[in-house]
Amino acid sequence: MLLRGTGALTEAASAGRALPGFVAYNLETVQAVVAAAERSGRPVLLQAGASAFRHAGRDLLAQLAVSAATASSAEIGVHLDHSRDLDEITACLEAGYTSVMIDGSHLPLPDNIALTRSAVRRAHDAGAWAEAELGAIAGDEDVSTAARAGAMTDPRQAAEFVAATGVDALAVAVGNVHGFTDRPVELDLDRLAAIHEITPVPLVLHGASGLPAEQLLGALDRGVAKVNVNAELRRAYLRATAEQLPTALPGADVVDTWAAARQAVADTAARTIELLSAERNEINA
Ligand SMILES: [Zn+2]
Repeated sequence: MLLRGTGALTEAASAGRALPGFVAYNLETVQAVVAAAERSGRPVLLQAGASAFRHAGRDLLAQLAVSAATASSAEIGVHLDHSRDLDEITACLEAGYTSVMIDGSHLPLPDNIALTRSAVRRAHDAGAWAEAELGAIAGDEDVSTAARAGAMTDPRQAAEFVAATGVDALAVAVGNVHGFTDRPVELDLDRLAAIHEITPVPLVLHGASGLPAEQLLGALDRGVAKVNVNAELRRAYLRATAEQLPTALPGADVVDTWAAARQAVADTAARTIELLSAERNEINA
């Protein structure tokens, strides 16, 4: 069933847990996320967004994601990831998305605020909630490359940004990087704690793939209640595909190859759900 509203998000925030936001690109990855949610019995967000639309086509992938989430026995929100386009946001809300991310992090602050306010209004009018980004998260969402750290989120500015926009969740830049990196990523947990202290909404961590578990759990103790997972799923998909190819190629067996990739993505997603939803005592950071 479709997971609506911010209840699961605020519940996760108060329990020191996080909702996983899994990025899906095609039929198999949508099905894998749904299977992982059903196996764990935990709410998740299925993120079919702008970058995947370039591959699969917006209407087809959006309808697929909403249909799969609606038909599932698990609670699954469908979320538009990293959108810079208000028309795209409207189209996805009309397709049944339950939340959207407006990414104005590349804009000067007043323009980010104005764009975010418009997106928040559209989302709320459609009964959905909105995430925005302040500070610049380094790296490419679709390809893992070594990236320089982006501009970090300023705590005071974060509080002002949330108040000015009415946004429901805020993606922060605290040293996190999209995709895998050559060097280990170290989150600025003190900065995260400072943002959490004066910002009244759940925080979102992008670029969690490859992050050591203690860093990730440290972020959960400091207000992060949604964690985006993308590269880890892509790697699971490709590894399973590569393992399958030697036996699949002679007979051109695509079905078993797709099924193996789907299974690998579901297993990886299920492990992430377990990590993010483990019973924990809240630590006041
Ligand atoms: Zn991201």
